[in-house]
Amino acid sequence: MFVLCSCGQRHWGRYGAAGLLLTDPLRTGVLLQKRSVHVHTGGTWSVPGGAIERGEGPVDAALREAHEEAGLRAQDLAVSRTVVGTDHGTWSYTYVIAEAPRPERAELRSAGATSWEADRTTWVDLDLVDSYRLHPGLREVWPRLREELLGG
Ligand SMILES: [Zn+2]
Repeated sequence: MFVLCSCGQRHWGRYGAAGLLLTDPLRTGVLLQKRSVHVHTGGTWSVPGGAIERGEGPVDAALREAHEEAGLRAQDLAVSRTVVGTDHGTWSYTYVIAEAPRPERAELRSAGATSWEADRTTWVDLDLVDSYRLHPGLREVWPRLREELLGG
């Protein structure tokens, strides 16, 4: 459900939202997902993620959504830390940074039609992320996330 936030906007997720920022050990890129035109701000690129459910933490939520949307399995990923990207008090979005080897193939399609929320999932070189039509929330915090990735 949408919540009316103290910032005056509506956000998705009664308990906030979380996304999986998947990178490879050498930090060559991140996994981005093109959002389906059927969802809020569809057609833009973001990370797999969604609303945190009642009783769930950001890490659980991000891993669950990444599985639902991109077919990623928690046991194949190494979660390193979380970064609160947007914090409006009543609503926040947490990025869960995780590592996995980047596939040799340039593009990794999502595992079949697992979800109507995402059109496709692909690895994007770190330096090219800026050139994608990013979801406004990711656009805003990307410089900080990029520093987190390169600094850690
Ligand atoms: Zn807000």
